[in-house]
Amino acid sequence: MTRNQRETLKKIGIRLWELREKRVSADDCDRSIKKNDAWKKIETEVETCRQCVLHETRSRVVFGKGSRDAELLIVGEAPGAEEDKQGVPFVGKAGLLLDQMLEVCGTDPKEVYIANVVKCRPPDNRNPEKLEVNLCLNFLLKQIELISPKAILVLGRVAAHTLLNCNESLAKLRGRVHYDSITSVPIIVTYHPAYLLRSPREKAKSWLDLRLFKKMVEKHLE
Ligand code: URA
Repeated sequence: MTRNQRETLKKIGIRLWELREKRVSADDCDRSIKKNDAWKKIETEVETCRQCVLHETRSRVVFGKGSRDAELLIVGEAPGAEEDKQGVPFVGKAGLLLDQMLEVCGTDPKEVYIANVVKCRPPDNRNPEKLEVNLCLNFLLKQIELISPKAILVLGRVAAHTLLNCNESLAKLRGRVHYDSITSVPIIVTYHPAYLLRSPREKAKSWLDLRLFKKMVEKHLE
């Protein structure tokens, strides 16, 4: 708007509303710096971790991907060959399917944060051992604390058993909402996309899980 226009409006008694810049308080700044430092610390710890044998065979550590301010978190099991090569989770065939599933249910894959329970690839794509999971779990818990997601989607048996601390079959765990015992964050369990690639008939059930996830997310974002 020109100066003339402003003056004319003033003359005829019309008050102009202007958008004020959002003030960032010193507390906000402080919190953001602390959060950044905490991310750097955990990333370094993961990068240099030698707690279990998986560090001997890994090419790259696979920390996580996506927005650290995401409201949604997706948790997988462990990196595969392609993830080990690139150092990024879910970039192989299973990742492609995951992206497609998210897009179909209206979620931009870039708006979620994705991490695995185990940060290094188990050789020959074997399941991670209990000890490996237990030694790596603190890293994931710290990521969850920093992201503070509104909802978590858990992919597959290993991740579900780890996060829900149970041994039930995936068939029993999927299709309903669980709540984290400490944070009360809602958790939905579904099949791992790698399993869906082998058993495409189960995709329909996974689709129902994703719809439930979406519904629950909308409820918790209201
Ligand atoms: N499977 C997973 O669980 N995580 C990945 O990052 C890739 C495949």
